[in-house]
This record gives sequence, C-alpha cells and structure tokens, in this order.
Amino acid sequence: MPTPTIVTFSGGAVTGEGLVTRVESGSAGTIVVVDATPFHPVDHTWPDQPGDDGTIAAGGDTVRVAEALMAAVSDEGAFAVGSDIPVKRGAEGWTWLVGHRLDGAAPGWLAAGSRVNLSVDVARRDGLSRGHTACHLASLALDLAVADLWRKEPGEDALGNPDFEGRANQSSRIHEDGAVDEYRLGKSLRRAGFDTETFATTLVEREQRINTQLAAWIAAGSSSRIEAEGPTIVDRRRWHCELPEGDAVILCGGTHVESVSEFASITVSLDLTDPQLLVMTTSATSAA
Ligand SMILES: [Zn+2]
Repeated sequence: MPTPTIVTFSGGAVTGEGLVTRVESGSAGTIVVVDATPFHPVDHTWPDQPGDDGTIAAGGDTVRVAEALMAAVSDEGAFAVGSDIPVKRGAEGWTWLVGHRLDGAAPGWLAAGSRVNLSVDVARRDGLSRGHTACHLASLALDLAVADLWRKEPGEDALGNPDFEGRANQSSRIHEDGAVDEYRLGKSLRRAGFDTETFATTLVEREQRINTQLAAWIAAGSSSRIEAEGPTIVDRRRWHCELPEGDAVILCGGTHVESVSEFASITVSLDLTDPQLLVMTTSATSAA
C-alpha cells in the first residue's frame, strides 16, 4: 500500500528533502510523487489557490516543477491526478498524494527510489500567501459591510457577523497579491433575506466601508497562522487570525502570511455590471 504524502507548507516550509515514490507520465504531463514535500498543491475540488512551482534537485542536477497538484491512488491501484480524480478530497479507499508536474519527461536521475531536494519558488509562494490572507480578510470585511442588509438571520461567519460569504460565494481565485471572488445575487439569496436592491444602490458606500475596515485591520497588525490536524495533505487545516473583533477561524487548505502587518495595503473594488453577479477584486501590496 502507498503511504500518503507528508506536507510541510502549513508550517511555512519552502524547502525539504524527500524520497521519490513514483514517476508517472500521462495526459497531465510527468507527475513526480515524493514521500514528503514543502510544495502546496492546488486543490482539485475547490481550486482557489494555484499550486506552488519550483525545482527538484539531486546531486548537481535540477528540474523545474511547473505546478504542484493533488494526486491519489485507489486501493485497487488506479492513479489519478488533479481534476481527473473521480472522488472528493479525502474520500475513503484512496491514498492522497501531492504530485509535482514537470513540463517534459523526467530526467534519468529522477526515478522511484531517488533522494531529492525540493525547493519552492519563494517569491511566488509569498505573493500567493498574501493573496490568500487578503482574500479571507476582504471576505470578512464584506460580510461586515453588508450586515445591515439581512432581513433574516443567514448564519454567522468567523467573526459572528451575518455570513454573506457563506451564502453567496460561488468561486474564489487567488493570485499573487490578490484575488477575485464571485457572489451569486439571485433569487435564492433574496429569499434568504438579503436586500439586493439596497445593496445595488449603495455599492460605492459598501466598497468604502470594506476598504476602511481593511486599513484598520492592517494597522492592528494581527497574527495569522495555519493549524493542521495532521501531517498529510487531506488532514483538515484552519486559518487563524487574531483580529481586534475576535479570533477568526476559517477551514482553509491554503498558505498565509504570518502577520497582517506584512501588508502595506489591501483594497477591494466591487463590480455589479451583471446585477445577478457581484465581482469583488482584492488587491494587496507588501509592506516589505
Ligand atoms: Zn482559504
């Protein structure tokens, strides 16, 4: 039986050593699996944060990793990668792995049994971590900025405010130093008690509220960290951020900054060109 990949990104690792357990080539390119890795893979069911890129090296040789992604092998021996995995993350009957996708064929020195050094592209990882933390903070600020528009109780977000994010978010795409989130403002949200008409007529004021809140959170310089229930890629992980309003805890598989003081700014713009679809674009700048 294969063993699940041990992941170290949640502790902030960007380098590590591992033993190659398989090298597979298929429609997704060449996939290298290692027993332990610092690479953060894109999730196959909720692909919000892109996978890390970087290098794998041994001796004097180095090969580029284009992207880390989820891989899994069934108890019957079927190997699947990324969106070809036919079951949800963590499903029983599968062993969960991190795949390192190479653009070309694997060089001869890279084969099952090789000892290798793995290095994540640090500048890109840092940018994605800022993008992911900014995305969560912007969502919490959005919930707060529209809290008065609910006529019914929709459930609470991580700060105890009405959970607009949880009710309406349909996709989240994180990139270096930013994110784009889409929210469905259709009939079902209105039926859940959200006043979409007033929201549309006060859009500019809502955007200002979010940006004022984000500036206040950066000024507070709260700590931000990931807590993992275990060392494999499918163990649950949570983002913790000790904001002045309370300790925000959100289930999250991504990477994050260590402190909100790492930002010079986080701002959002709200777009309601399609009245049924709110697009929130979040942009962050680094303090360093
Ligand atoms: Zn997240």
